[in-house]
Amino acid sequence: MKTIYAVFGDPVEHSLSPVMHNAAFAALGMDSEYHKFRVSKDDLETAIMGARAMGFGGVNLTIPLKEKALEIVEPDTLALDIGAVNTIEFKNDRLIGHNTDGIGAVRALQLSGIIIPNSKVLIIGAGGAARAVAFQLAQNGAKVIIANRTAQRAHSLAENVKSVGDARGTGLEDLQELVSQSNIVINTTSVGMHPDIDQTPITANMMRPGLVVFDIVYNPLHTRLLTEAEKAGSITIDGLKMLVLQGAESFRIWTGVEPPVKEMEQAARTALELR
Ligand code: NAP
Repeated sequence: MKTIYAVFGDPVEHSLSPVMHNAAFAALGMDSEYHKFRVSKDDLETAIMGARAMGFGGVNLTIPLKEKALEIVEPDTLALDIGAVNTIEFKNDRLIGHNTDGIGAVRALQLSGIIIPNSKVLIIGAGGAARAVAFQLAQNGAKVIIANRTAQRAHSLAENVKSVGDARGTGLEDLQELVSQSNIVINTTSVGMHPDIDQTPITANMMRPGLVVFDIVYNPLHTRLLTEAEKAGSITIDGLKMLVLQGAESFRIWTGVEPPVKEMEQAARTALELR
């Protein structure tokens, strides 16, 4: 019998997870299928229990369910630190909550040949995605600076991240100076996201050759920030890499099998380009 996997969210129509995971199952010849289900916060517990009762292989969670899940599953330490669960593992009678967003970002950097320990990473933004990225990078030995429009949010996130590594928070006033002191800049804000595609958190004159510029926004695939970075001769990484690699990590947790990342990325890229 087929093993069923799913993503729960609301809205969930635009999730690329089914395309990615079904491409992985096809590539490996696994008798499994991945579907998306619209689930409200109020129904989350019932939906998770239902999935377990029906023998689902695993579940991903997206907006607005990631935080609510902390009350329902047993979060691992990282998910607890980040304050959000995006992957549920059904392990015997237990429901284990993981968060693979930060791992996706770290793997995207590593796959581009970037060495993380001791690197100086400027994270622009202090929202949900920034939390995952900041915790994971600090845990991997990066020196993290979090710069956010609402400086208080950056300070508060940095205080939390200090429990696992090196972090400090600030506002956006000295962005040029902060970029010049960093090896890696990661945009975790929604600036530049569709429909405001002409916006960018920093421009080419603030960047330089050799700097790594990673935009986690993936809609559009090629953001204005990445265009500015190319103008400056910087190394660029797009948000789809992180999306695919967080999915790949969920796949690994559920199946114990090495995920076919190339096929997953190709499927997601094609689906995005067709939109
Ligand atoms: P969020 O929790 O709402 O956080 C939004 C962040 O953007 C906050 O730091 C906010 O600053 C900042 N911001 C928004 N508008 C701004 C502006 N005009 N100027 C400066 N800062 C601004 O959102 P999120 O869930 O972290 O998602 C952020 C982005 O990451 C989205 O585009 C999302 O699609 C993308 N994302 C990508 C992946 C991936 O796998 N590639 C995964 C997760 C998220 P304030 O605190 O001052 O409001």
